[in-house]
Amino acid sequence: MHKVTLIPGDGIGPEISSAVRRIIDASGAPIEWEVEQAGEAQMERCGTPLPQSAIDSIRRTGVALKGPITTPVGTGFRSVNVALRKELDLYVNLRPAKNYPNVKSRYENVDIVLVRENTEDLYAGVEHMVGKDAAESIKIFTREGCRRILRYAFEYAVNNKRRKVTAVHKANIMKCTDGMFLEEARAMAQQYPNIEFEDRIVDALCMKLVQTPEMFDVLVLPNLYGDIVSDLCAGLVGGLGVAPGANLGEHEAVFEAIHGSVPHRAGTNTANPMALLLSGVMMLRHLKEEQAAQRVEDALVAVIREGTHLPQDLGGKTGTQEFADAIIEKLR
Ligand code: NAD
Repeated sequence: MHKVTLIPGDGIGPEISSAVRRIIDASGAPIEWEVEQAGEAQMERCGTPLPQSAIDSIRRTGVALKGPITTPVGTGFRSVNVALRKELDLYVNLRPAKNYPNVKSRYENVDIVLVRENTEDLYAGVEHMVGKDAAESIKIFTREGCRRILRYAFEYAVNNKRRKVTAVHKANIMKCTDGMFLEEARAMAQQYPNIEFEDRIVDALCMKLVQTPEMFDVLVLPNLYGDIVSDLCAGLVGGLGVAPGANLGEHEAVFEAIHGSVPHRAGTNTANPMALLLSGVMMLRHLKEEQAAQRVEDALVAVIREGTHLPQDLGGKTGTQEFADAIIEKLR
């Protein structure tokens, strides 16, 4: 039996989490859920959006499935997601983007896995005002931070039978930070002679991604470029509603969809649980429950291929829970 922490989140989080939990339970995977709350409601109740009990639970179980959490803009608490990544040193953000049948996209045959560094770079948010009319943000790269994400990307390629790793940077301009990342990428590539390696400048990569996405396989990027390019990749395969993700550290793994809490759909049973479900499939694979993972993915693909039960963002009228029911029906 695997113990897994389940954080339903807020907005559409509770609805999509309960749909995904029902599907995973129906797959027969031996999972015992520890439900922990985080987000705005917890802020009011406990004075923090990320209660210690949630962190302790993830430390205990080592694995969490997490719904989206609303982050107030400008004021209020900092992102729970960023806090979790920092607290648990979840230095890998893994975001696959591949085409599924009946999920509208301009492209076919996209199968990209984006590996984003998750703890350093401008995204660490080390910034301050310089007087009243200027602001400074500090971009921090460490050699070990570069090495561990690059090592993860190459190991991922080997373990998942991928052929190529592309390191993405802007080393022509940022010679110290991105330059260090590129230097380490080239050195790491030497250790993996069976994996093809290339590097690309981030702006040129974006153009190539929208022209010929099928030429890319595993992408490895520093934090901020990874943040932006991963949404671009989600757009290549049908948008945020279908894009899963994982945050991985040495000891803990937190699986969550890329999308946010879609506040205007909260409580309407109209959200698409597919991205969180695919994150759940990644979680099952992480738990070495390959058979259950494949069954869930096949059942999901069967339902969307049939096209009679599609959630609103995929052009259908099926509610969140009814979409889950249709998938569960395929698992029987
Ligand atoms: P969002 O992802 O919540 O919504 C953007 C648009 O994408 C929505 O209007 C909707 O049309 C569509 N969409 C996304 N997921 C969908 C789904 N599952 N089903 C149907 N439609 C879907 O992005 P936002 O509006 O920028 O953010 C809303 C809140 O979520 C903010 O507070 C933000 O900080 C937070 N957020 C949280 C996470 C997280 O918890 N990991 C990630 C991103 C944003």
